[in-house]
Amino acid sequence: MSEKTETVLIKGRPLCYRVRKSRRARKMGLSVSPREGVLVTLPWRVSYAAAPGLVDEYADWLDAKADEFNVRLGPRVRQYGSGSAVWVFGRPHRLEVRALPVGRSRPRFDLAEDGLLLTLPPDRILDLRPSLEIYLRRLAREDLPARVQRWSAEVGRNPRKVIIGERTSRWGSCSSRGTISLCYRLVMTPPEVIDAVVAHEVCHLVHLDHSPRFYALLDRICPGHRKTKDWLRDHHEELIL
Ligand SMILES: [Zn+2]
Repeated sequence: MSEKTETVLIKGRPLCYRVRKSRRARKMGLSVSPREGVLVTLPWRVSYAAAPGLVDEYADWLDAKADEFNVRLGPRVRQYGSGSAVWVFGRPHRLEVRALPVGRSRPRFDLAEDGLLLTLPPDRILDLRPSLEIYLRRLAREDLPARVQRWSAEVGRNPRKVIIGERTSRWGSCSSRGTISLCYRLVMTPPEVIDAVVAHEVCHLVHLDHSPRFYALLDRICPGHRKTKDWLRDHHEELIL
């Protein structure tokens, strides 16, 4: 990978973006997220000179997204260390960091009532975010499939596939082919919020729209789902890793 940072004026306001050349990228791509900011991805052989044209073409979209995620001046880097908090199942957990003895490399994560102990190789201690992501993804893989199964039983349909990944703008989705995708960071929210998001997506296995029939089903199986929207909105900041 190779990278460059550029600034462009859109409607008179500066916007910083990074241009990343990737050996894996097949075509040019644009993305905006809290963690990466505005990112242009280019296939290895494409010249950096191609980036401004692409940014120009999608200027309106980038302008709106960069404001939405508050990343006009670059990604929001959050520093974690001993004492900072990360949200797990809807409550802040205080981080405690310890170093693994020399010669051991397998990280350990111990979740307690209101704390999370990370025992990491020394070279992982400076930037805790990758380790926290590993932990939360692991927790999501343990927690989310069982919930999908439970809610699927409520509606009597099973998803074809469940994908647990990173999503920047939505917590979950359901495709017409019956694939349910969920954001691993859902495990940062309270169990009733996770259930409401999962129940919502599972109801799409029956109705692939937001019609009254869809909401009638969701209201019936998960009456508390409406309250969880506010929680997600109010805690938006805490749920960014
Ligand atoms: Zn929906």
